[in-house]
Amino acid sequence: WEYNRIVSISSLFIDFEEDDMYGQSVEDDYCISPATGLFLRNVNIALGIFCISYHPYHPYFPVCLCFVTGRLYSCLDQMRAVLGDSIPDSTLTQAALKYDCDPQRALDFILTEENTNAHAPPARTNPQPDRVEAEVVPKVARMTVSGKKQTMGNVKVVTAAPTTETPSKPSAVNEDSAAPTPTRPAGKSKQQLNIRAELEKRQGGKPLLNLVVIGHVDAGKSTLMGHLLYLLGNVNKRTMHKYEQEAKKAGKASFAYAWVLDETGEERDRGVTMDVGMTRFETDSKVITLMDAPGHKDFIPNMITGAAQADVAVLVVDASRGEFEAGFEAGGQTREHGLLVRSLGVTQLAVAVNKMDQVNWQQERFQEIVLKLGHFLKQAGFKDSDVFYIPTSGLSGENLTTRSKVADLTAWYTGPCLLEQIDAFKPPQRSVDKPFRLCVSDVFKDQGSGFCVTGKIEAGFIQTGDKVLAMPPNETCTVKGITLHDEALDWAAAGDHVSLTVTGMDIIKINVGCIFCDPKEPIRACTRFRARILLFNIEVPVTQGFPVLLHYQTVSEPATVRKLVSVLHKSSGEVLKKKPKCLSKGQNAVVEIQTQRPVALELYKDYKELGRFMLRYVGSTIAAGVVTEVKGSTYPPFLTKHIPVLY
Ligand code: GDP
Repeated sequence: WEYNRIVSISSLFIDFEEDDMYGQSVEDDYCISPATGLFLRNVNIALGIFCISYHPYHPYFPVCLCFVTGRLYSCLDQMRAVLGDSIPDSTLTQAALKYDCDPQRALDFILTEENTNAHAPPARTNPQPDRVEAEVVPKVARMTVSGKKQTMGNVKVVTAAPTTETPSKPSAVNEDSAAPTPTRPAGKSKQQLNIRAELEKRQGGKPLLNLVVIGHVDAGKSTLMGHLLYLLGNVNKRTMHKYEQEAKKAGKASFAYAWVLDETGEERDRGVTMDVGMTRFETDSKVITLMDAPGHKDFIPNMITGAAQADVAVLVVDASRGEFEAGFEAGGQTREHGLLVRSLGVTQLAVAVNKMDQVNWQQERFQEIVLKLGHFLKQAGFKDSDVFYIPTSGLSGENLTTRSKVADLTAWYTGPCLLEQIDAFKPPQRSVDKPFRLCVSDVFKDQGSGFCVTGKIEAGFIQTGDKVLAMPPNETCTVKGITLHDEALDWAAAGDHVSLTVTGMDIIKINVGCIFCDPKEPIRACTRFRARILLFNIEVPVTQGFPVLLHYQTVSEPATVRKLVSVLHKSSGEVLKKKPKCLSKGQNAVVEIQTQRPVALELYKDYKELGRFMLRYVGSTIAAGVVTEVKGSTYPPFLTKHIPVLY
């Protein structure tokens, strides 16, 4: 991450606007014969069993040896995909054995048992990564932004009356499924709906903006945003006082504001910390969905999910001497986050130069940071005119919702405060006219019929009563209810984080990362695709067969770089070398990626949001890429065995 080694990723995106030469089919000269394929599959199964059975404390150790075919493993995997961590391994194993490794029957058994058990947690389909993968993808399941979380407990919209301390009302999803769900007759028919006009009318004409907060750990992200919400009236004085007392008691008095975000509604109820905090507030001209991404290095995969759903970002940096430098150097998250959000399509950025109180609001320090960051952000692909620097103090609240009156600051800064800047962001162009696409970020069962999925609509719009196709598994279901920010609606459109109640499909078939789409114009699912990638500052060269984790929307999938097709000139895109032996840092290249399970993808030229991805390797982001060609389209049965990759 040294200065002179930063690679400019702007060319990757600029070139792809019109350039489809990389989308051309190139002869597949690395085909695997069926016999080799069978051999590899067997090796994979054997490896999968090895992984489990070799673990000396693993509860399946005694039995897995008997299931050389991997059926038990497969069955348990599928059960865990539905139940998450909520049921002990031993119970799952018992049920699997009882029903001869039939996941459907074993699940029925567990769920019936659980339903009769009053304290049983609701069944959620957060797929839990298996043990090996868990080391590489920490908390993939929990990075999801659940529909329930959108209700946000006792954080309310700023225009509403200050909140009381009454417990959060039951989630809208629950209400929905208990109450009769709205169906098509309640709204206009799809033909009649003028989606652009409806969008204009909604929220009093205020556009929705998804904002992610990024930055190095301890830069002050949670404090800053918590304080901002407090100043906006989203948290009442009594609640704030309670946080202060609790924080004091816990010996962390300075974290009181951070608790507004870190411990809202559902998190307290469930006693867990969600990985991407999510809440909502309004500015003069916009409704903001705020995502507070974890700053720690281990949580970068989770941060990617947040950023993948964001339109704009606030990058928080610590102005204190030594601290800014620590976040900016190798191993710090300032650079990695900056590169990630840009790679994921964020173009507008507010940089909160935070903890300015620690440096006496010195103009020189501010300028020093602006200079260093500016240089880097430009190389990362941000336009100077789309990056805005604001001196702030999250702790004292200066320059958050109103312009600061601190003399040391006003002596040299007359620009906007953070809220004014957020309000000034340009609303993104939503692809409402394209066929419907929603990327599933959470799946859960409620008491009513059907089940709920949450996610961001990336393109098009949806109405209650619509049939949608889930890909994979290539099956249709019907949308019975739509909830946006606690409200049941007849329709929702691109840019909205919604919760859909669907019927007509088995919940077991839906996974986080699957795409709901228009059945008439479906997305393709594939295990192989060609892409143009830009390699970051990698230590190990990428060779054929290189194992990676593919991060794409809410998907995190083991994959390999199957083929190195060519090395390209960074700005002209001209082919410099065909079939290179390896790829090294800073290079622009065309590669073919092979995933273990099918993933639903679009070409970048068709749907930017669904055509870009990141590659990670042993905890570091090694490349950003865009899809140029979907190969080997496939709709295999959903319950394909997931074999862990050995890193
Ligand atoms: P995060 O990890 O980026 O979310 O950081 P936190 O919000 O948890 O803050 C880390 C620490 O920095 C806490 O002790 C905060 O009280 C402190 N902090 C945050 N913002 C400021 C600030 O503007 N000034 C000072 N002096 N301390 C701050």
